[in-house]
Amino acid sequence: MALKDVIGQEQAVGTLQGCVAKNRIPHALLFAGDEGVGKRLTAVNFAKTLNCNPSHPPLTKGGTRGGDLFLPADSNPQPPTPNPLIDSCDQCPSCIKIDKAGHPDVFFLEPQGDGDQIRVDAIRELEEALSYKPFEGNYKIAVIDNAEKMNQATANAFLDTLESPPSQSIIILVSSRPDMLLPTIRSRCRRISFTPLPVDTMSGLLKEKSKKLGNEQALLLSELSGGRLGYALNENLLKQRDTSFNILKRLLDGFEEEGLKDGQTIEEWFEWAQVWLRDTAVLKATGRSDLLINKDREGEIKALSEGAALKDILKLARELYNIRGYLKFNLNEKLTLNYTSLLMRKRLGKQDVGKR
Ligand SMILES: [Zn+2]
Repeated sequence: MALKDVIGQEQAVGTLQGCVAKNRIPHALLFAGDEGVGKRLTAVNFAKTLNCNPSHPPLTKGGTRGGDLFLPADSNPQPPTPNPLIDSCDQCPSCIKIDKAGHPDVFFLEPQGDGDQIRVDAIRELEEALSYKPFEGNYKIAVIDNAEKMNQATANAFLDTLESPPSQSIIILVSSRPDMLLPTIRSRCRRISFTPLPVDTMSGLLKEKSKKLGNEQALLLSELSGGRLGYALNENLLKQRDTSFNILKRLLDGFEEEGLKDGQTIEEWFEWAQVWLRDTAVLKATGRSDLLINKDREGEIKALSEGAALKDILKLARELYNIRGYLKFNLNEKLTLNYTSLLMRKRLGKQDVGKR
């Protein structure tokens, strides 16, 4: 694929293409936005565009492809729009190597190891690799995924390189939690924002992509994915949803298990729980099934809502949201689930719990 195939991020893609056309490519970029909206995909295809060869003339030597003719003037208040002339061919050896993460000038770094962190020695290696001239491309490009997982030492080690990277090198930080990056890192990068798609736009796109998808299912996938196309196209999304509901029912029955064994992590379950409780609260408050995300599970959601008062459903949603936040402190999974089960039974009207 190429930049033209990145769906729903016209502004981000247009901004990047504008930088190329103006021959003013920032040396450090921060791709910021929710998980699953297309940040990494854009980074890969931007790298392909920059190093695409040889079916296009080089992008920066002796002027720019397309030139300023295709650019909105600087004073133009319109948001940037995609420029189809600035893209990769998606077929040349360079593009293919980058797709396979095998290009000698393009580096991908992500958190590794027990601590799930970007280690300082990995950053040192990267810095050294960037210090050489490109072997075959126009640029050396580093894509650092989940960049917020640099600890303080790593981030500090990287500051100088971010401040003044070696010539012909471009660093792209990718993060769904840019707020967790050190301010000194953020301030050295040009931020490119990626946004979730509106539900209507997305369900239209989903139907285009998959002809067998009906209206209702496309809407359901759009809602469940929160406008994140990468999630919606994941075939497991509905399965994950159903798994989460099975777990929810088991928790309501009193949870006697050691932990989750359904292929869903406890973090994932707590996120899904918010979707179910949202629907339960909506049905309780309005009685309108057309406002549900999970319209196809109306009967079960109704059964959940009937035993509980609205204020208790909302309280439970808040409590589970808080537990979700504490999970990063490595809570014991069994104890956490037992406690959650207790809360759910109490709030959703299984009153026998208190009498035990
Ligand atoms: Zn190419």
